Amino acid sequence: MKVLIATDKPFAKVAVDGIRKEIEAAGYELALLEKYTEKAQLLDAVKDANAIIIRSDIIDAEVLDAAKELKIVVRAGAGYDNVDLAAATAHGVCVMNTPGQNSNAVAELVFGLLVYAVRNFYNGTSGTELMGKKLGIHAYGNVGRNVARVAKGFGMEIYAYDAFCPKEVIEKDGVKAVDSAEELYKTCNVVSLHIPATAETKNSINYALLKDMPKGAILVNTARKEVINEDELIQLMEDRPDFKYITDIMPAANAKFTELFAGRYFSTPKKMGAQTAEANINAGIAAAQQIVGFLKDGCEKFRVNK
Ligand code: NAD
Repeated sequence: MKVLIATDKPFAKVAVDGIRKEIEAAGYELALLEKYTEKAQLLDAVKDANAIIIRSDIIDAEVLDAAKELKIVVRAGAGYDNVDLAAATAHGVCVMNTPGQNSNAVAELVFGLLVYAVRNFYNGTSGTELMGKKLGIHAYGNVGRNVARVAKGFGMEIYAYDAFCPKEVIEKDGVKAVDSAEELYKTCNVVSLHIPATAETKNSINYALLKDMPKGAILVNTARKEVINEDELIQLMEDRPDFKYITDIMPAANAKFTELFAGRYFSTPKKMGAQTAEANINAGIAAAQQIVGFLKDGCEKFRVNK
């Protein structure tokens, strides 16, 4: 069996070493395609791969057509919107993610961004504190739960809304579960976004939802840029000079946000939520273990194209 690591943005060496150990211990061969610049390189590398580990790399119908021996793709990370799930299912390929492996990394970055924002981007002026403020967690999954854990240390009042997670599960953590996204945004000084990018959530963070946030509101987005309706967020920030937007996922309209909202808009230059040594290693090794479990024992835990 041949397992291919296909990463435009490579794993750290220690993560590749860990993956290799898992794959070779199972008696499989490991191949590496890193920092590829042309799709043709990916199409060539997947030809004889039985399993592929990817990060933000695009696996579309063309790649799946080229990968004649492919049985499984594992996205080392949480979001899998870079994989064409319908095409994978049509090709009989199992797709998995590695949930939870980078959640702490993302949660810590949320607070890095938040402290930066409430201290006016360290411009030397007096800011505010997070203690006592109302934090809304939009989607209480792996990252959302870690955000709640860290927020307790900051002394924040924590609220959450999740369309699928039962309220009792949220409230067991000492977090107030609300009934709708609208209620969450109306209630909270700060909202941290953790919804996946799906047909339902794309463009869903819009003017109507954001307009009722309290004065001095902050939206922090470490989910996906696609969930934001950028035109409506720009309109909202024009209408509300008190509103701040901070993200590690640069909007398509970054230049416009930068020009219009100096001092209350910030994006990291690259997606950084999961960019820690620990998350890199955890997600890579989990991906390798899931591949071995699938190929040897047919284990489909974490399959996302059921
Ligand atoms: P997760 O699958 O553990 O949790 C997602 C949660 O969203 C689930 O609890 C689910 O019930 C909820 N949900 C789904 N649709 C919803 C909707 N319409 N309304 C409300 N809740 C809804 O995922 P996670 O690990 O917490 O990650 C969340 C997202 O964050 C990922 O999908 C990914 O896009 C993004 N992410 C970004 C980075 C980064 O580097 N910035 C890293 C990891 C994850």
